[in-house]
Amino acid sequence: MEDPAYNRIRRTLCAVVALCIASCSASMVVTGCAPAGGETRVTPPEPVRAIAPRDTSPGQSSPPATVDESDPVSTAEIAQPTRPLPIPPKPLPTPPTHEPTVAIRIDELAIGARVVVETAAGRVEIASLAAPESEVPWIAATPVEIRAQDGGWKVTPRGKAARAFAAGELEIRPAKGSSELLALKKQKWPGVLRLVRTSQSIDVVIDVPIETYLPGVIAKELYGSWDESTFRAQAIAARSYAVVEAARWQGRRHYDMVAGQQSQAWIGATDNAKAVAAVRETRGQVLVDHGVVVPAYYSSACGGRAANASGVVTDNPFHDIVPLSAGDGAPRPSCCQSASVATWKVTIALATIQARIASWGRGIGRSDLATLALPIAIEIADKNAAGRPTTIRLRPRSGGAVTIEAEDFRRAMNAAGDSKTSMRSSDFSVSISAKNADFTGRGFGHGVGLCQHGAQEMARKGSSYQQILARYYPDSMIMKAWK
Ligand SMILES: [Zn+2]
Repeated sequence: MEDPAYNRIRRTLCAVVALCIASCSASMVVTGCAPAGGETRVTPPEPVRAIAPRDTSPGQSSPPATVDESDPVSTAEIAQPTRPLPIPPKPLPTPPTHEPTVAIRIDELAIGARVVVETAAGRVEIASLAAPESEVPWIAATPVEIRAQDGGWKVTPRGKAARAFAAGELEIRPAKGSSELLALKKQKWPGVLRLVRTSQSIDVVIDVPIETYLPGVIAKELYGSWDESTFRAQAIAARSYAVVEAARWQGRRHYDMVAGQQSQAWIGATDNAKAVAAVRETRGQVLVDHGVVVPAYYSSACGGRAANASGVVTDNPFHDIVPLSAGDGAPRPSCCQSASVATWKVTIALATIQARIASWGRGIGRSDLATLALPIAIEIADKNAAGRPTTIRLRPRSGGAVTIEAEDFRRAMNAAGDSKTSMRSSDFSVSISAKNADFTGRGFGHGVGLCQHGAQEMARKGSSYQQILARYYPDSMIMKAWK
């Protein structure tokens, strides 16, 4: 018998993981939160990672430290759901006792593409993970060019003849004794590169210890001018999210997260001192709730009204927990309201709304949406305790009214990728004229968990990262999981 939650995931194509770093980080002003595809497709089966996550340091757990709850206002957001992930939900993991390694897919290339890897040291070690462990890695001069060939790999080092590697995952690491970073796609990456050939792509994956991974997340997520406390709170949220994702995908997929809004932004190696320090100073700290790690979703700006994770960024029943809830409806009187992204307006033609809803409906197999006549009314059908819309009702010119989850409505509108009609959040009111719908909205992103702009506002006024996390993940605790 299929799990109802599983079916629901299939039905709504609601992303379970996808965090759209709504963060308007310096680079992402409006691009953050680009919604998931209306024609969202089920992710095709992919090879399971061939290697288990490796523990990289002998840590030991410390007793949990309670979050300072002196500012226990309810509220929250960071990530933005985008893609359907129709897999059975997994319980949340207990905190790891050693630093985990995470697998980040940094690119998805066509089968015929070539991958060029460089290092400052001028050489790399290449090994087939399908080969016996006793096989010595091949030392290749860089730049080295790698292509898929005859089911396996063709590797051409600088100035030397090519060598063929059998099918299976191919691992490329800096030459032994070298602390050099791998250079790929004009960026530098810490960790080990792994190439995985799927039925339709070459996945470029980096296996990296989580503490080494995180600075390149934080550096992209936050404005460089923001306060240290914001960086630290963000580091703990991003670490907690990554721990949960790594546990969720273990044995199911050959990577844990992507570098991008479906998971968390990641720029690879970074020399952003504030990001590096925030990760170092919070090393091993994760958010826990009743002994398990909180998937600490976050977004750019909640607009003053938090969202529940459930039904917004996840349909995993294990994510339906107090730290990821909108709480009892207590207002967030001073959160991100002074941020530039606190409010937004957009006008969308009713005919465009009809077409986008129909496209979304076809993508998820909902005929009532796919055949919707021109809407003449758009109403908020339901709200959460904080007053944030959760369900939208569309009344068409002919036929019966239909309802759609508010966040799905936003995804449906944004699927076309038209920045002029981008809806920054699903917290809006709407007025209808003859041909158009005029939306007035609050916030940027899904509104679950940490509100980045609100966190910065707290930090600016002197709050600690513990106070920030206590506000946005109520009832959670900070625990130092590994040394
Ligand atoms: Zn906020």
